[in-house]
Amino acid sequence: MLDPKSPIAWRFAQMNERFASAKAQGLYLYQQEAEKIDGMHVTINGRDMLQFASYSYLDLLGHPKIDAAAIEAVERYSSGTHGVRILAGTIPLHTELERTISEFKHTEATMVYSSGFVTNYSTIAALVGRNDVVISDKLNHASIVDGCLMSRAKFVRVAHNDMASLEKALASVPPGKGKLVVSDAVFSMDGDILNLPDVVGLCNKYEALLMIDEAHSVGVIGETGRGIEEHFGLYGGIDIKMGTLSKTIPSVGGYVSGSEELITYLKHASRAFIFSAALPPAQAAAAKAAFEVILEEPERVKRLQRNVEHFLTGLKARGFDTLNSVTPIVPIIAGDDERAWLMAKLSQERDIFVLPVVSPAVPSNLARLRANVTAGHTIEEIDHAMDVFAEVAKEVGVL
Ligand SMILES: *Cc1c(COP(=O)(O)O)cnc(C)c1O
Repeated sequence: MLDPKSPIAWRFAQMNERFASAKAQGLYLYQQEAEKIDGMHVTINGRDMLQFASYSYLDLLGHPKIDAAAIEAVERYSSGTHGVRILAGTIPLHTELERTISEFKHTEATMVYSSGFVTNYSTIAALVGRNDVVISDKLNHASIVDGCLMSRAKFVRVAHNDMASLEKALASVPPGKGKLVVSDAVFSMDGDILNLPDVVGLCNKYEALLMIDEAHSVGVIGETGRGIEEHFGLYGGIDIKMGTLSKTIPSVGGYVSGSEELITYLKHASRAFIFSAALPPAQAAAAKAAFEVILEEPERVKRLQRNVEHFLTGLKARGFDTLNSVTPIVPIIAGDDERAWLMAKLSQERDIFVLPVVSPAVPSNLARLRANVTAGHTIEEIDHAMDVFAEVAKEVGVL
């Protein structure tokens, strides 16, 4: 039973008060139900809204080939598996999906997990331990941070995309220690891209393993959407390629791709692979079909990249600060938390579904709308959304 005087009770009360106060002011915008989904149109609270908070960058959610693959998998294998992958849970779809990803990422081998978060968490914890050092960009995703903490390795955070800071961290690792550098490819709050060529150079110089999280890179950057290596035309520098099956790929799960030796090790050392249930058949089949669709319909990547360009140029022309974003993740800086909340609320009242990101997720003077543009938006829809953002920004004093 909860002791009402304990710090646990205090934490519950704090959070509940914060929630109740936002709710009372009509500023609680999270966890709204999308009752119907049709490309970038969603029905929320009975209203048709234009979706600007989606991770479905290539608009693959609802693709007929992908949906059909999922349905067929349920008919053949049912809704779950006989448990964990290493024991009774593996079905041919897992192996086929892993082969498809290996081909897509030009690697020898791949393993899939049932969540992207767990993929990072469990992989990092299996790669490094007490006698190692793990070096992580300050803006890396929470699942990377938690994996680093869980690993018990010495955890060094370096300034964002700052090569001098990375080199200093690498140079100060005592001899004999294992070294892992881990980073997002595309940063999930700011939308900028990691300086991969320099990071690879430093990891080679200091003999450190390099792990890259491509959650927002696969399907998004590179001429055919193969990700950060294609973007830079630089192959062979990444030891551990991680990605999610829940963003561009309209399923759920995560993968790690690399050498045969790496994957054999992880399949027998990574606790989430050994102790957590296999990816369900429908999700494995959908993910496999989605990788195929990306290559079969290259115009989707082209349309996405054209839309990103149009959105960023248009926002800057209207006077917005979008930091260093060059991807579909576009921070529209509002300043303080209050203005970000209000801009999001007013945009939603005008049927643009966009969400605020406030402190502590981002620094308190950089609260923002986190707007996502996708291949599923038309130029007219993007123009309309930008006009709405400019209108509400003027109303709350951002522009
Ligand atoms: C979303 C995300 C994850 C986690 O993936 P899920 O499949 O949603 O669990 C990991 N890393 C980054 C950078 C992400 O944005």
